[in-house]
Amino acid sequence: MKEKISYMKGLIEGLKSESDSKEMKILIAIGEILSEIADSLQEIKEKLNTMNDYIEEIDRDLGELEEYVYSEGTQTTIECPYCGEIFSCEKRENGDEEIFCPVCHRAIINLES
Ligand SMILES: [Zn+2]
Repeated sequence: MKEKISYMKGLIEGLKSESDSKEMKILIAIGEILSEIADSLQEIKEKLNTMNDYIEEIDRDLGELEEYVYSEGTQTTIECPYCGEIFSCEKRENGDEEIFCPVCHRAIINLES
């Protein structure tokens, strides 16, 4: 778009030297306005890009947060193989982490993952 406007402005400049009519002045004014619009658009584009980066960053953080909430908040039910007590505990990320039975306090290997 910017290239087209510069091209048009170039054409207007070329015509300006040939005539100095009112129409010419209007064309020049239109050319000025168009290039101002192009500059504004460029600015908006840059701001949008910055905002996009920001949104992507938030999205990433949100994904991490979701992962955190999911892994921390998921409860799993375990039956103690020693005393038969059924209790719930938080799901661990590595399934072989030891969990202690709240009744007999023995270590249970969490086979669920
Ligand atoms: Zn037990």
